[in-house]
Amino acid sequence: MKQDILDKSPEEITDILKQIGEPSFRGKQLLNWLYRGTKSFEDMTNLPKHTRIKLKERYMIGRVKQIKKMTSDNSDTIKYLCLLHDSNIIECVVMRYDYGNTLCLSTQVGCRMGCSFCESTRQGLIRNLEVGEMVGQVLMVNADLGEAEKRNIRNVVLMGSGEPLDNYDNVVKFLNLIHDPNTLNISFRNITLSTCGLVPRMRELADMDMPITLAVSLHAPNDESRRRIMPVASAYSVREVVEAAKYYFERTGRRVSFEYSLMEGVNDGVEQAEELGRLLEDFPCHVNIIPINTIEGAPYRRSPEVRIQLFEKSLRSAGIQVTRRRELGHEIGGACGQLKRGYVDTLQR
Ligand code: SF4
Repeated sequence: MKQDILDKSPEEITDILKQIGEPSFRGKQLLNWLYRGTKSFEDMTNLPKHTRIKLKERYMIGRVKQIKKMTSDNSDTIKYLCLLHDSNIIECVVMRYDYGNTLCLSTQVGCRMGCSFCESTRQGLIRNLEVGEMVGQVLMVNADLGEAEKRNIRNVVLMGSGEPLDNYDNVVKFLNLIHDPNTLNISFRNITLSTCGLVPRMRELADMDMPITLAVSLHAPNDESRRRIMPVASAYSVREVVEAAKYYFERTGRRVSFEYSLMEGVNDGVEQAEELGRLLEDFPCHVNIIPINTIEGAPYRRSPEVRIQLFEKSLRSAGIQVTRRRELGHEIGGACGQLKRGYVDTLQR
């Protein structure tokens, strides 16, 4: 199979063109076509014909194909199912905010982290996504939002299926690629990477000179309760995760946010909020509380409103900055993995 040219960095694109005898300025021309969403080398009319033929012989453009799209009732969330070349399916979600469109994308097919509340890990890790498959999600969505919106994706969140730091090299290459002024020119400050807390990789990322926002999925204030819902807690303690987050903040100056999914009777008590408050005391961070959607057949239930509010209040009284994450389109399967499961179920019926 031909290689996907979207896997290539700007430097690699320049080298490819050099190898077929073209000057380096052709690299910018080619990138310009690719990141405007052009799907065929033949349409790149400012490249010489023989160059277009050579490119077409060796490369393809993009391997991500939209197969289903669901829009929430108020149109502020759009969820896409995408087919990959090997018949695997991934999903990504666009969230519309006043300040622009944000894309939440996947970094792996499946995930091996085994968080017990997460649909994406049910079948384990199937494979890592290639760089071009992450780029392809952004370009697919840009094409779908189209000219009419004139508001292409400006914010990227790595929070779909997969643990981004478990696909480290491809994810770092992808982030550098979409940040490049000759591609999508997305500011590092507009990128958030969510991790379940792979401590060595968090520290490595801190040293990369890439000031993106780090969101750490904590979901519990101590090792014992975290181990019950997140197997990764057996490898890295809550203390180690928080220390790595502090290191990230020191190195990048970027405030870290901790994600805390509230599940009724599991981690939503006032005493747990107080323990979390003590854990994060004196660390200028942010806690995002996320009341989970109740998923049919899953063992966890959404916390009642009164418990959510008490939890939030208790964290605030401990001096922690808290936000409650906007709840995304319940009716379109807002939780990670739900839409994919619904689609696959339909195929199997
Ligand atoms: S929550 Fe994230 S890290 Fe945990 S299993 Fe799901 S995709 Fe993987």
